Amino acid sequence: MKKVKIVATLGPNTSDKIENMIKTGVDVFRLNFSHADHKTHKNSIKNIREISKKLHKKTAILQDISGPKIRIGEVDGILELKRGDKIKLVKKDPKSKYELSISYPEIIDYVKKDEFVFFADGSIRTKVIEKESEYLLLEVKNSGILSSRKGVNFPQSNLKISAITPKDELDLAFGAKNGVDIVAISFVNAKNDILKAKKILNKNGANPWVIAKIETKKAVENLEEILEVSDGVMVARGDLGIEVGIEKVPVIQKRIIKEANRLKKPVITATQMLLSMVNSPYPTRAEVSDVANAVMDGSDAVMLSDETTVGKYPLKAIETLKNVIIETQNIYPYYKKYEIKDSDAIAASVADLCKGLEPKAIVSFTSSGTTVKSISKYRPKAPIIALTHSRETSRKLKLVWGVEEIFEIPKIKNPEKLIEKFKEIALREKILKEGDKVIITMGSIVGKEGTTNMIRIVEI
Ligand code: PGA
Ligand code: MN
Repeated sequence: MKKVKIVATLGPNTSDKIENMIKTGVDVFRLNFSHADHKTHKNSIKNIREISKKLHKKTAILQDISGPKIRIGEVDGILELKRGDKIKLVKKDPKSKYELSISYPEIIDYVKKDEFVFFADGSIRTKVIEKESEYLLLEVKNSGILSSRKGVNFPQSNLKISAITPKDELDLAFGAKNGVDIVAISFVNAKNDILKAKKILNKNGANPWVIAKIETKKAVENLEEILEVSDGVMVARGDLGIEVGIEKVPVIQKRIIKEANRLKKPVITATQMLLSMVNSPYPTRAEVSDVANAVMDGSDAVMLSDETTVGKYPLKAIETLKNVIIETQNIYPYYKKYEIKDSDAIAASVADLCKGLEPKAIVSFTSSGTTVKSISKYRPKAPIIALTHSRETSRKLKLVWGVEEIFEIPKIKNPEKLIEKFKEIALREKILKEGDKVIITMGSIVGKEGTTNMIRIVEI
């Protein structure tokens, strides 16, 4: 089994392949709210839930909120640019071919002379040579082609715009109402962006995990405070590469993953993992290496974007990820060491016990999922089986490293009866055999959050 999870983005090429995607190894479906309308997303949610139920498989739904992705307005056809050309970013109506409007005109106020402005995923680089209240005059540094609604990045500027736009607020309310399990927030700069998103979700009666996409310079600077209030993070390498320079991405990736692991926050490594598979049935050696390295770094999950939305080989891409994960697990550095905090004492002991006992599985009864994340943090070699009475928790745990089976069980107060119930499920589902040794964690007050205080060694 694979310990690292697969997040796959649903799109035009895969909306009718959900069943095969689950069968091939997808744990979490990502719905990208930069594209498609609410009706389409609602339909996807319904299909994912129905098909998962039919297959008796747990799957999580991750709603990716688009955030303030800044784009230029309409261009008449294409605009061919060469080094030395001058273009203007204007607040009001463009008057010529070389004047471009922008989705957040107020941003012009925060940009200073001599700062860089990048267009179209950084493929066109310009520098501000003149600034007025109504426009920025830019000098083009390399040739390239611009067309309508291409993205704009301001890697050196301190933009004071909220990570949660009015559209995002509507999308968050939609996600809350439709029961998504995990929400990812784009272009987060500081912890307040996450707190704001949580407030909106809570106001709408939902409590999904909120994941911070780390894709701006500010987010890298504020990583600690962002991690403190988030339920997880994404190394969003696409925009991050433009904002900080691609050569810095691998080192930042390692730092984000290490910090997230230490704080037991699930971390997703994303973007261009198998990009060549958009058009080719085989990945490049470098891509395969990148996936293996993301696994070795400690990712809880790896993600596919274009590969599964518009790619020609979505199932092959999922299969490739799965095979690379399984192969890399052979040399994975299991049993991580950490300074033991109170809340992790049980998990640390379980991991230690595993080394001597080599159990067939670690079985954890969990309410909020905290004990399972805590056990996962120590990266034990034995598969983790999670049991919970909460449907919400059962789906969220699809994102956590090493959790190989998740079962929903009724609330049973008596610990002995609960263990009997587990044995019954384990044998019925053929995940364990009679006589198999397992390590169980549970609380003396069953079903109450934060009460795990028992380790039992049990034979099935
Ligand atoms: P996006 O985020 O695909 O929503 O842009 C991921 C990234 O930037 O890497
Ligand atoms: Mn992004």
